[in-house]
Amino acid sequence: MTQADINQDPFLFDIEQLHAIATQPVIKQGLLHFQNNSVTELNCDAELLSAYVEDINSGVTESTELGFDGDGNLEVACSCDDSVICHHAIAVLYAYAKNSGEQPELRGAVDTAIKQRISRGRNEVAVKPSKSGAVFGV
Ligand SMILES: [Zn+2]
Repeated sequence: MTQADINQDPFLFDIEQLHAIATQPVIKQGLLHFQNNSVTELNCDAELLSAYVEDINSGVTESTELGFDGDGNLEVACSCDDSVICHHAIAVLYAYAKNSGEQPELRGAVDTAIKQRISRGRNEVAVKPSKSGAVFGV
């Protein structure tokens, strides 16, 4: 159910979906903006995602809005006047994905797995000496 809810969020793009709407250089540039914490004032209601993106190359802060047309296609309105989906929009999508909690959840899952492995390792060390006598005795 949680997985279905995530998939239904129209603004939550995974990397494959990003590649469907933008080229590799645009995605890479968008990721750079995001990694530089250039995305601010991230705002989302049901139909509109908006944010400011400070372009790490030009230093200009662009106002970016993302929405959907009647057919469910992503539409971008950005102050950079790029007619296609621009790297500012990609940066906003990255920021949104982070904000939605997906990435922290993934990181949390990895942490849990590591902790489990560590505690399992400790248990094995603790159990072995007491059992080994019995095993060798049989
Ligand atoms: Zn733009």
